Amino acid sequence: MAIKKLETLFVVVPCYNEEEVLEESTNRLKEKLEELIKNKKISSDSRVMYVNDGSKDSTWSIIKKINKKEKLFTGISLSRNRGHQNALLAGLMTAKEYADIVISMDADLQDDINAIDSMIEEYNKGNEIVYGVRSTRKKDSIFKRVTAETFYKIIKFMGVDIVFNHADYRLTSKKVLEELEKYNEVNLFLRGIFPLIGYKTSIVYYERAERFAGESKYPLKKMLSFAWEGITSFTTAPLKMIMNFGLIVAFFSIIYLIYVFIRYLTGNTVTGWATITSLICLFSGIQIFCIGVIGEYLGKVYIETKSRPRYCIEEELKH
Ligand code: UDP
Ligand code: MG
Repeated sequence: MAIKKLETLFVVVPCYNEEEVLEESTNRLKEKLEELIKNKKISSDSRVMYVNDGSKDSTWSIIKKINKKEKLFTGISLSRNRGHQNALLAGLMTAKEYADIVISMDADLQDDINAIDSMIEEYNKGNEIVYGVRSTRKKDSIFKRVTAETFYKIIKFMGVDIVFNHADYRLTSKKVLEELEKYNEVNLFLRGIFPLIGYKTSIVYYERAERFAGESKYPLKKMLSFAWEGITSFTTAPLKMIMNFGLIVAFFSIIYLIYVFIRYLTGNTVTGWATITSLICLFSGIQIFCIGVIGEYLGKVYIETKSRPRYCIEEELKH
């Protein structure tokens, strides 16, 4: 009887100034990984990979210490702070060389690590990507919850296919990561790329906890720029909005023109007023519309420069 080879799991954890949480997170992750290995859910080659994102505190020296002491823990260190998404990508690309499946999660373990079991189960059912989705955000501040959920709604409204309330806690197979490697874009918004890749996917729900130590590394400024990055990296909808706005202005200026014309006919105007107002209205509309048209082309150029893969073959039948 052929024995099914156990899959090797890598848990990729980006860390930026996380000295306060690393020890506790290591204990929890160690326990989880050991349990999974013991229960023959994953191979004993499985590891946690910390990615030091150019931290200014002792994060990297702590990671090195953990690596020396614990067999299950490895790490890489970036030359400087490149931001969460880049750190995550660096981790995913490094881990895929050793792993069959990779799970990404934050260092503060706000995302329940017990969801790993169900993620692996879903993977074993044939899913190549398993998205971790926050079932409630009760523990997040009202501000964080409202801003985050509004963002998901806006970006969805603009036509970007993302999973509601899913951050970067997800399982991906090696196959998916190899596909991800073909996306060369520098403006990274990973949670938008995975739905583009496709394959069979599934969702696992969990409750998001509070950060047990340290502060959020996503202050409002970073949050807003991340949201803007998400929108501008995935949709040219704002450019289309300019064009539509131009059309609306042009439409109303024509109505206004009719009004001005009537006033002109009834002799109710100062000389020259009718011509000037009409021209201003009409040309404003036309100008905005023209900017929109240029925007359309600019948007196309932008999409082309990303040179994203145009397809991904999942299966091929041969004789
Ligand atoms: N992070 C990173 N580089 C950065 C900022 C954040 O690698 O420049 C990591 C951070 O260490 C954490 C994850 O990204 O593991 C998410 O950050 P955080 O938990 O502070 O965000 P929040 O949960 O408050 O949204
Ligand atoms: Mg957090």
